[in-house]
Amino acid sequence: MPLSDLLQKNREWAAAQLARDPEFFTRHARGQSPRLLWIGCSDSRVPAEEVLGCGPGDLFVHRNVANIVAYNDVNISSVIEFASTVLKVPDIVVCGHYGCGGVRAACQPKLPASYLGDWLMIAGWAKRTVDQSLARDGRTAEGDDYLRLVVEENVRLQLQHLSHLTVVRRQWEETPGVPRLHGWVYDIGTGLVKVVATGDT
Ligand SMILES: [Zn+2]
Repeated sequence: MPLSDLLQKNREWAAAQLARDPEFFTRHARGQSPRLLWIGCSDSRVPAEEVLGCGPGDLFVHRNVANIVAYNDVNISSVIEFASTVLKVPDIVVCGHYGCGGVRAACQPKLPASYLGDWLMIAGWAKRTVDQSLARDGRTAEGDDYLRLVVEENVRLQLQHLSHLTVVRRQWEETPGVPRLHGWVYDIGTGLVKVVATGDT
């Protein structure tokens, strides 16, 4: 699709919003009060607002490959700081998705020597945890079933990272229990969200 078509779609969208709600843009120009902070994957099939039936102004969003929360990522820490201290967003959701190419790549025995390889190494521990838990229970999982387990574990792992971040711990000292942390997984095959973790685990 040419970019000119996308710009045309933008004009149509803006006109439709105004027709439905004449105050839509005036209201948004005054400020924002999003319901939650969404930390999701950059995957084009998982647009936060769309899958939750929300629109502009409803969610504060941070997305990266494989929805990773890294300790040394000033980007994500500043997003969380702004969401928590300025916008007072009470809930943070880490949302992974089945069929995640980033998680699949993180499961490879040898990651590529690249920025992406370095980044995905952070999700590699999720694979190890799944392998250990399958071995402990004497179970096996293959193909997509295995990847689904790693996707879910990656969300739990990133929630754990979140709970260790200074910016989150400082907030908890000031307002115990807030922000609340939630782990979700979006199923690109059904459009449904599954809750896989709640709290600081
Ligand atoms: Zn993904």
